[in-house]
Amino acid sequence: MDVDRRTVLGSVAIGTASASFPKSAFAAGEKPYRRIACEEGFLSPGVLAQNKISSTSALQLISADGPAAFLAGPLLDLGEGRIAAMDADGIDMQLLLLSSPGVQAFDAATAASLAGEANDYASAACARYPSRFAALAALAPQDPAGAVRELQRAATLPGIKGAIVNSHTNGEYLDATKYWLLFEALEAMDLPLYIHPREPAGSMNQIMAGPVVGGPAWAYAVETGTHVLRLIQAGVFDRFPKLRVVIGHMGEALPFWLPRIDNRYRFNLRGPSKLARLPGDYIRENVWITTSGMNYWPQLEMTLKVLGPDRLLYATDYPFEKQGEAVGFVEAMPLDAAQKKALFEDNATRVFKL
Ligand code: MN
Repeated sequence: MDVDRRTVLGSVAIGTASASFPKSAFAAGEKPYRRIACEEGFLSPGVLAQNKISSTSALQLISADGPAAFLAGPLLDLGEGRIAAMDADGIDMQLLLLSSPGVQAFDAATAASLAGEANDYASAACARYPSRFAALAALAPQDPAGAVRELQRAATLPGIKGAIVNSHTNGEYLDATKYWLLFEALEAMDLPLYIHPREPAGSMNQIMAGPVVGGPAWAYAVETGTHVLRLIQAGVFDRFPKLRVVIGHMGEALPFWLPRIDNRYRFNLRGPSKLARLPGDYIRENVWITTSGMNYWPQLEMTLKVLGPDRLLYATDYPFEKQGEAVGFVEAMPLDAAQKKALFEDNATRVFKL
């Protein structure tokens, strides 16, 4: 029996449609929304240099002479070259995130110093191009109190709109209570936290390896989705009900899994729940999701249906994904103008106060 390849290869069909999409921004006088991309990578000179020093086969940090050296130039460039690429691809604004794993693979002193350097570097770009760049503050959770101090310092710099943590730090997740002063600071300052993937912690990094299982194919999503569920399980959102968490890659598979998590949470409980609500309630109320690298209509449509139109933000994952192609994929989707305005502009403006 013939399988409908248009259904099986839905993303390919969308990709074909996008080939004719004009990469330049809207025609003159026809600009119904700005396109804001919310998970766009960069590296500072200091972090790029330290990546080379710290690189091991388990970490695969991006350095100027490593296997991913072709990404070093685009990641370092927060100037004319990146602006020209954004213009060509129809991106009005990028929210800059220090590329994974940020400073979290370094020793505490090096990490704290380089978080400051990276935040200054990103903020200087925001000051030069205030309508084109905003940024999140990289943090070094190795020293939680120091991370809070850096957050408080960085939040006073031009363009800094929240914080980023690249999942685990030395195998520890933010649900450990020693990190809760970070949540306290974020909630008090009304700033969102982006939790971005990195390679899984400990022995999981050996199990979740290879071209099918490892990296962004599957491992990153499981790693980061698990991180968010650990926060819920620990009661972080009961203690900090106004905390806003943002995750990428269409929610790291959580929207698909949501009803089963709620259903089996009830089953797993052997006594009264320690949580005020069901796990999925915290995802619906405390978590926002970006599309980074997941420009597939069935997945996007389902996420909109499960979480509602206010929770989904556009992201490219530049320079790891092609910016113009991603814009073309999303523009080709059967969304009306109001839905596209929410996805490309309004939700980002609201969550990150852009
Ligand atoms: Mn990314």
